[in-house]
Amino acid sequence: MKPDEALCQRVLNRVTECMALAARHTGRDFDPPTVRFNQRGRIAGSAWLERWELRFNPVLLADNEADFMADIIPHEVTHLVAFACFGKVKPHGREWQHIMRSVFGLEPRTRHRLNTARVAPTFAYDCGCRRHQLSLRRHNKVQRGKQRYQCLHCNTLLSLSVTDTTRRKVP
Ligand SMILES: [Zn+2]
Ligand SMILES: [Zn+2]
Repeated sequence: MKPDEALCQRVLNRVTECMALAARHTGRDFDPPTVRFNQRGRIAGSAWLERWELRFNPVLLADNEADFMADIIPHEVTHLVAFACFGKVKPHGREWQHIMRSVFGLEPRTRHRLNTARVAPTFAYDCGCRRHQLSLRRHNKVQRGKQRYQCLHCNTLLSLSVTDTTRRKVP
């Protein structure tokens, strides 16, 4: 899946803006990085230091644009800036945290809180007392008869909910 062109352009603009902000703060010039939209899985984005490249997850981007603009893009840009200024340092170490705070005024968080429903679907299962959400991996094990899961509260075996409307296929 590729995000639409207007969205790609907004991401590129934000990357440019972040790089310019970092350049102003550090008094250095940075080449514009290559930006790709091929990050898979639950990962929102990644920074490839030697390649000077940023990769963003198109599915998460489409569902969480505001978080990308406010947090994910500055986060990944900061990895590049830290590399340019300090060389190979700990990915979320002191240098990275310092740039996040001083350049972008952001709390240096390392885990995103995005809606991952479409990249990491869950499956509803019922016991005798409540609704459980199983990961795709666990769901597949149950469906292949390789594993059974029991509710810790009522000790009933979980079975796939027949009333579940949130279940979807992996895109
Ligand atoms: Zn990071
Ligand atoms: Zn139960």
